[in-house]
Amino acid sequence: MHEKCEIINVPKKKRIALVAHDHRKSDLLEWAKFNRGLLSEHTLYATGSTGALLERELDLPIHKFQSGPWGGDQQIGAKIVDQEIDLLIFFWDPLEPLPHDPDVKALLRIAVLWNILVACNRASADFIISSPLMYEEYPRFIPRAKVH
Ligand code: PGA
Repeated sequence: MHEKCEIINVPKKKRIALVAHDHRKSDLLEWAKFNRGLLSEHTLYATGSTGALLERELDLPIHKFQSGPWGGDQQIGAKIVDQEIDLLIFFWDPLEPLPHDPDVKALLRIAVLWNILVACNRASADFIISSPLMYEEYPRFIPRAKVH
């Protein structure tokens, strides 16, 4: 039961988390290279292997968490709850089951619950990164659960 809503001010400089499963890493890398200039204006986070790859190819600083299967998805989820991530670019694999599928589901659930921006494919990522709202503050509504 939602008691009330709260507004969180998303800053101009967004905090972006990037995650790609192995079969989708090349897709994310290509997208990120194309959008390097736009990404460089924000603060970037990533799961371990995705982050290492992007850091090397983009030559941009990236805060790296653990690799996804080792808890990286959950670390990003915790950052979302702490209101330290504004946008999740999550290229998950729709064709392969993974050992950390529960973590993937948990991360997507937390992202929706906290009403952050989420893109799971290139078309969505393109629309989000090119939105004028990427360069403005944005009042983000979040439901607040009743705490007993
Ligand atoms: P990785 O993790 O970036 O360390 O490969 C991604 C994932 O599997 O969630």
